[in-house]
Amino acid sequence: MHRRITGKLVIATHNPGKLAEMKELLAPYGIEAVSAGELGLAEPDETGNDFRSNAAIKAIAAAQATKLPSFADDSGIVVDALDGAPGIYSARWAGPSKDFNAAMAQIERLLQERGATTPAKRTAHFVSALCVAWPDDHLEEVEARVDGTLVWPPRGNAGFGYDPMFLPNGHARTFGEMTSIEKHGLPPLGLGLSHRARAFRKLAEICLEPR
Ligand code: IMP
Repeated sequence: MHRRITGKLVIATHNPGKLAEMKELLAPYGIEAVSAGELGLAEPDETGNDFRSNAAIKAIAAAQATKLPSFADDSGIVVDALDGAPGIYSARWAGPSKDFNAAMAQIERLLQERGATTPAKRTAHFVSALCVAWPDDHLEEVEARVDGTLVWPPRGNAGFGYDPMFLPNGHARTFGEMTSIEKHGLPPLGLGLSHRARAFRKLAEICLEPR
């Protein structure tokens, strides 16, 4: 049985960008979002082998510490020609200075080394895993992806992370060239384009009720 989220929800992130995005997505459902950062919660080590387990680790740690339902996400980019790298290490490839130009250049270098020069050899997808954990150990988990190809040089200054290199299938512009409304494509304008928007729609279907 799926469980509905009501009242207060802890957003287990210390990333202000993710918190702002989640508050915006949750507003139509009358959910009061408080962040792990605001509550002074420690960040657990992400020791899982996949996106889903890392999201669960973060959500469970926050639910146990606060005794409130807690939400966490984990995401990244999976490059087929690189055997799935950087995957769950997507944030780490940018190093402590969070240099995503360097991380994108690293991907490009490896693609060139492997002779991945045509779009068919440069396929990749973003993944978003979302988890809501309750203090009694109940979990709700969803995952979604968006498929595309990697372009070089990167295009556009919008978005963050690997956006300027990612051309979603069926589109002429990279995520870096799209507004956030286009990238996420949420209703009423779209049906969800980004991995995060698609995962959030799945979560909303099972756990949220519009006011
Ligand atoms: P985490 O989910 O905080 O572990 O970080 C995931 C990392 O994946 C981010 O730092 C980005 O580098 C990358 N990533 C996840 N989603 C996106 C996206 O929508 N656009 C660009 N990069 C992303």
